[in-house]
Amino acid sequence: MLLDYGLKGKVAVVTGGGGVLCGVISQALSQQGVKVAVLDIRKEAAEAQAERIKKLGGQAMALEADVLDPQSMNAAAEKVQRSFGAPDILINGAGGNRKEATTSSELSFFDLPHEAIKWVFELNCLGTIIPSQVFGKLMAERKAGVILCVSSMNAFRPLTRIPAYSAAKAAVSNFTQWLAVHMAQEYSPSIRVNAIAPGFFLTEQNRFLLLERDGELTPRGKTIIAHTPMGRFGDPKDLIGAVLFLVSDLSSFITGVVLPIDGGFSAFSGV
Ligand code: NAD
Repeated sequence: MLLDYGLKGKVAVVTGGGGVLCGVISQALSQQGVKVAVLDIRKEAAEAQAERIKKLGGQAMALEADVLDPQSMNAAAEKVQRSFGAPDILINGAGGNRKEATTSSELSFFDLPHEAIKWVFELNCLGTIIPSQVFGKLMAERKAGVILCVSSMNAFRPLTRIPAYSAAKAAVSNFTQWLAVHMAQEYSPSIRVNAIAPGFFLTEQNRFLLLERDGELTPRGKTIIAHTPMGRFGDPKDLIGAVLFLVSDLSSFITGVVLPIDGGFSAFSGV
């Protein structure tokens, strides 16, 4: 049975909506009667996601958009408003890591290419701040709205090997708290800003770190499972309840939190 979160008729913008986790989140929102604008730098991925939603009876539009380009975000905001109306919800989902920004036996920290570090840092950090400026301004004008950022386990304590991603996600958690305070104090207490911090979900960005070519767990994959009290990787569907809760009025007095969705990973000392 589908729970009713009171979101029917709302408008959501989901950056990175063509990806794995935010694709599932986009579908869950549409099943609640939310009109979903799927923004992604990969046009085909955004279009495929919007089509999937429409086939399931939901309302969606696909927009090719770059979270690092304010002009592209402004253009997307105009199109969303014209077709769906003012956005009520922004999900800052675009993000990710790159193999070239990951240390290994072949690539030391000192040799990580500047370009790769910059790409990862900017995508996760500025890629959250820029859409929050563009869509947050529309919320400030209406004195209502919800922003949900996507942080990570790296934000609480950095994981080995991925320095740029860890630093950037720590910045996302910090920015989430900053923006929550700023919006409530300067614009309206009815604008809430929170984040989810997913644990380990097997997706394209981390497959090379967690699985060997033959599908067996890598040593890192084994360590993660051993440190996850629930004993498994997350399934994208595990995010849905928390996301719907945080974007709906069920969480009306919650702003500035970073909610781990991690099977207990962040609670476990390892002993
Ligand atoms: P994904 O690669 O499937 O999705 C990310 C999407 O962002 C892709 O569709 C990509 O095309 C899009 N994107 C990249 N650059 C962009 C840009 N400049 N502008 C607009 N879109 C852009 O990855 P995912 O695993 O679904 O991750 C979604 C979010 O969750 C990311 O922020 C990621 O860091 C975070 N996260 C993932 C995990 C995990 O275990 N997979 C854990 C914690 C946090």
